[in-house]
Amino acid sequence: MEELQRIVTRAWETGRAAAASGRVANYIPELGKADPSSVAVAVANLDGSGASAGDVETRFTLQSVSKVASLACVMATGLHDPFERVGVEPSGDAFHSIVRLEEETGRPRNPLINAGAIAVSELLEGPNPSEKIETLRGFLQVATRGADVDGSFALDEAIYHSERDTGYRNRALASYMKHHDVVADPFVAVDTYFRQCSLLADVRSLARFGLFLASGGVDPDSGLRILSAEATRKILALMTTCGLYDEVGRFALQVGIPAKSGVSGAILAIVPGRCAMACFGPALGPKGNSVAGMAMMELLARELELSIFSAGEAGRQLETSGQSA
Ligand code: GLU
Repeated sequence: MEELQRIVTRAWETGRAAAASGRVANYIPELGKADPSSVAVAVANLDGSGASAGDVETRFTLQSVSKVASLACVMATGLHDPFERVGVEPSGDAFHSIVRLEEETGRPRNPLINAGAIAVSELLEGPNPSEKIETLRGFLQVATRGADVDGSFALDEAIYHSERDTGYRNRALASYMKHHDVVADPFVAVDTYFRQCSLLADVRSLARFGLFLASGGVDPDSGLRILSAEATRKILALMTTCGLYDEVGRFALQVGIPAKSGVSGAILAIVPGRCAMACFGPALGPKGNSVAGMAMMELLARELELSIFSAGEAGRQLETSGQSA
């Protein structure tokens, strides 16, 4: 077996063992039906190689990972500047925090918390939420070149309805932002957000989606520019500082890769210039992140030496020879 596949399989075994300690999110009732023992992982390299292991056919909703996709989609269109309505500072709060709207302005702290994503999703092109979601799905399909052949990032109707029936906290956030004129129509904003959270992927299509973020905004297969290099860099910076709720610090230390997690148990992680990785495991830890996903990301980062904070070979060479070598 090839070395990468061996490491990915080992990551999956570690993730599977870790999953037993987590609990599936059920505040969106339909999410609670996920199998807590389900675990999958995929790595997609920029050179076209890759590996995957586990329940790779299992589809899950993107939930908060969709925040990266909608932000990229809005920035790619270039018609609106999302940073006119959202900030760029980490919140340090749990994913559903209601307090991180700035009191004076009602502005969300960043685009990767719920309030920020609700504000950004309203900027997707289209006259109503379903058309806006078609814009986003089109973007996902272009960015993956149709990798999600089965469902093309289809909407999971049951999850969407379940969240729509119960998502009063998100509605409160949207209403508060309307009070401060951060959003134009809170009903459109929040419904678009519920829908984008309910889009389906599997680990391979999600990792494939992340490749343009690893390559400075270019689809590695076609050479097509999906997003400007500057916008890509900004999104990766935000993922690094705001992507894992209030566990972002530990993730930076233990893994050290721009990433975004979601309550479905998905994590998308990007190693600039190298690869994109996707993990899935619906059993969550106390901070709302997939326990299997965290364990798998840690192992992959360590074994493949992926942390963006590591000097890697350059440091080792200097240690043995200094500048004179
Ligand atoms: N749709 C979920 C919510 O808004 C997404 C939360 C998440 O994945 O962080 O509650």
